[in-house]
This record gives sequence, C-alpha cells and structure tokens, in this order.
Amino acid sequence: MAQTDLYHLIENPEVLKEHGQDFGRIQFSNPLGVLRPTSVQELQSLIVDLTKKKIRVNIQGSAHTANGQSQCDQGVVIDLKSFNQVVQTGYDQDPPWINVQAGILWEEVLKHSLAHGLTPPTTTDWQKLSVGGTLSTGGVGFMSYQKGIQADQVLELEVVTADGEHLVCSHNKNKRLFNLVRAGFGQFGWITHAKLKLEKAPKYLEVLQCFCDSSKNFHQLIETLVQDAYFDCIHAFLIPKSLDEMKKKVSNSDHNALEKTWDQDQKATPQWIYFIELAKYRNHANPDPEVLKKIDLSLIWNNFLTQNRESFFDYIHKEPPLIEIQKKLGNLAHPELAILHPANHFVSWMDDFIMNLKIKDMGGGPILIIPLLSDKIHCPLFRHPIKGMFYFIGILRVEDQNSPTRLKILQQKNLELYQKSIQKGGFRYPCDSLEQPNCPKEWRIHFGEETWKKIEEGKKIFNSNHILTNSLGWFD
Ligand SMILES: Cc1cc2nc3c(=O)[nH]c(=O)nc-3n(C[C@H](O)[C@H](O)[C@H](O)COP(=O)(O)OP(=O)(O)OC[C@H]3O[C@@H](n4cnc5c(N)ncnc54)[C@H](O)[C@@H]3O)c2cc1C
Repeated sequence: MAQTDLYHLIENPEVLKEHGQDFGRIQFSNPLGVLRPTSVQELQSLIVDLTKKKIRVNIQGSAHTANGQSQCDQGVVIDLKSFNQVVQTGYDQDPPWINVQAGILWEEVLKHSLAHGLTPPTTTDWQKLSVGGTLSTGGVGFMSYQKGIQADQVLELEVVTADGEHLVCSHNKNKRLFNLVRAGFGQFGWITHAKLKLEKAPKYLEVLQCFCDSSKNFHQLIETLVQDAYFDCIHAFLIPKSLDEMKKKVSNSDHNALEKTWDQDQKATPQWIYFIELAKYRNHANPDPEVLKKIDLSLIWNNFLTQNRESFFDYIHKEPPLIEIQKKLGNLAHPELAILHPANHFVSWMDDFIMNLKIKDMGGGPILIIPLLSDKIHCPLFRHPIKGMFYFIGILRVEDQNSPTRLKILQQKNLELYQKSIQKGGFRYPCDSLEQPNCPKEWRIHFGEETWKKIEEGKKIFNSNHILTNSLGWFD
C-alpha cells in the first residue's frame, strides 16, 4: 500500500493477521496496513492521506471487543499500544489527575497512581484494557453503582478528528466532540490523550461472599444493598450449583465451611446459583464485625457468608474468569451478550433465561452481573435504561468445540435473549458479539431520536467522509 514519509505502515503478514482479529475470534478481517504511531502528527498525516485515497481506518487499544469493533477490513488499523506514556500528573490537585497517552493500559495508570495512594474512581475487571478503549466503550466496573463509568470520570481529552484536526475537549470546551468520543467507538475521532480524575485509594478491602439460590432473593438483596450504598463494590456471577464450582469462587480458607454447608443442603435444585461478592474500602487490616450486619441472612443460601480482607491492589488485579479460561484452553471464539437490563424486569428475564440454560451452552464462560444506577451515568452515548437501577448482564460464552454450527446456535440464543431484553427496556453494551443492531435504522432505535440526531450531526462535522469505520454499522 502506497504511503508517505510522514507515517509508516507495517505490512508484514504476521502483523496484519494479528490485527485482523479481536478477543471475540468471530470476525476475521484483512487490513491493508497497521500504524503504530509515536506522535499525534503521524496520526494527523495518516488521516489526511487516507481521506485523499478514500481508504477506511479504525483504531485499536487492546482489541478486547468481541465482534470486530476494533478491526478494519481492507483498510488501516491503528495499533495505539505504542502510544502509552504518562504525560503529566497533578497528584496534589483537587481533584488529583493523571494525563496519559490513550494507548496506555489501565495497569500502567494504576502502577503510577497507586504509588501515590491514588486510583481512578472506577476500575474495570481486567487491567490490560487500554484507556482509549474503555473510554470509547464506557468502562463499567464493580464500583460503578456508586461511582459511575470511566467515560464520566475523564476531565479532558485530546482528539484527532477525521479532517486531521487535533482538538482539546471537555465539559467546557468543544463539548459536542467530548460527548461524541466518549462511548463513541472511535466513530468521531481518535482519543490521543486523556486527563483522568483520580481519588484516594483504599489500602484494604473487607470482602464478603455469599450465594443466593433464587433470582427473587438475589434481586431483593442487591436492591437493598444498592439503596444502602454501604459497600464500595458489588458484583455477582450466576454459576452452576455444584460444590466444585462454588468452591472455585470462595477463598481457600472458607472451603471447609462451604463443604459442611453443602452437606446440610438437602435441595437438589436449582441447577444454577448466584455468587455475590461485596467489598468495603478500608485503610486498616483489622476485621470489622459490623460489616456482616449489612446482609439479610434470610435471603442468602443456607446462611453461608464469608468475610475476608484483601489488599486493594490484589483485588483489582485479579484475572477475570474469561482470561483464566483463555490461558487454560487457548484462543477460542466468544459468542457474548452484554446487556443493560432494567432492575424491575430482572427476575422474570433471568428466570426465563435460567430455565433454558444448559451448562454446556456457556463452555465454561462466566455470567457476570453488576448493578448500576442510571442517575450516576451522564455520558450521552452510553445507552442504558433511563430510570432507577439496572443490571449489566454479561453472558460471556466460550465456544469450546471449534464448531461453526455451534457458534451460530449460541449467537442465535444471544439474539433471542437480547430481543426479550429490549422488549423490557434493556439495551446492548456494544462491545459484545451480537449481530444487532447493525445498521443506521436499528441504531437510531437503540440511541433514541434525540441522541441519534446528535450522532448524525456529529458525523457530518467530525467524520463526514466516513473514513473512520468499524463493524457496528452506525453509518453504513
Ligand atoms: C477479559 C475482558 C474483560 C473486560 N472487562 C471489561 C470491564 O470490566 N468493563 C467494561 O466496560 N468492559 C470490559 N470489557 C469489554 C470491552 O471489550 C472493553 O471495554 C473494550 O474493548 C476496551 O478494551 P480495549 O482497550 O481492548 O479497546 P478495543 O477493543 O481495542 O476498542 C474498543 C472500541 O473503541 C475504539 N477505540 C479504541 N481506542 C480508541 C481511541 N484511542 N480513540 C477512539 N476510539 C478508540 C475501537 O475502535 C473499538 O471500537 C472486557 C473485555 C474482555 C475481553
């Protein structure tokens, strides 16, 4: 592919192959070249040149999307991992902040900030995601019900737009662009720098773990805990109800207690059980018996409740289940569904899902559940139920038989679940592998008229030639 001396594209077949895929391993594409930029000027030269040549382009952070959202077939892929430096810090400011190049991984941000006793308010469950990547999707974490999403915790961004401009944007400056690039999946410009808000990090966490064996009890427990706002982190998994699976979730020191409780459990059903983990920030390592009083024991499985302390660092650096599976089984396809589902329809939707859910349909992949509150989220393109509490539900399947037919079946199951969710006011979190929405007509419904109008206007201003593209099909 012809290039100029202002930027350098890698055309090595191995590199092209690596960047023609993402974590999902469902979509594979053939990029023409890969840019690993070291300066903003390089990005500006690239976009100006590609616009002239009418060649499309997409940007990748860590490529953890599941359906090609970070790929570009027959175009150029920007691999922003090379753009990964801390530029400036304001640790003693109010609020404290760190300004980074957007290809940096969150683990690097944390390495710097934790050394000064500071952390981003919300951290994702996997720190090898890039800053630019999660700001472009939303960035949900276990602390989101109180702190919101990462896209709302950014103070200022620097962006290269499709006409080659390098602009600073924030709530006070170029607000239109600021509102479009956050959760904008790279469709209005490339985030090159992010000034991130920080806050005081706790040293320890008081961690409580328990199980609920019905959706009704689970929802009642979580709803109360969210209202109390006592715990700093809340998340859960739906897991097969077996001693082995339950043991995998609780700390080793609690295995004996779990075995005893299991022996007393006379009920063969249900087949699935909710595992819940709650964490309270602490600056000392002493046990606090008060924490236990926050849990309504009548709602949890056989009164089984554990309490442990962990360092904040260890807690946020744990490998999520999907990465553990990948390390064990290698790279497999991930037919995933991620939805934001209204809390008042949670029980019926989950019960319907569980009724038809077979263990083999997950391929060992997790079902992750995180409560969120709509009034804590302001980023306009992060579409979610408008009122009250809702749940992030990630049905993160693994296709472990390398079978295209099975992959299709699992994708179809996800689609059916999604359709049932939108009927109840749910929305897709679009880094999953769902094949809908996939055209402007459908995205217009997803975003709603008011936001869609802003998206269309934004495209005319910042991506008028439709050079910035991805697999979601907002503009195709
Ligand atoms: C193991 C695992 C754990 C995950 N954990 C979480 C989690 O805790 N919370 C959560 O919200 N999501 C999570 N995700 C979902 C999701 O895939 C990521 O939020 C997202 O993909 C960000 O990661 P990334 O750096 O790999 O970005 P990519 O996947 O590379 O990019 C994501 C999207 O943003 C665009 N983009 C990337 N960089 C930029 C940039 N600098 N400027 C403009 N656009 C850009 C890309 O084109 C793409 O459309 C997880 C995914 C996996 C596989």
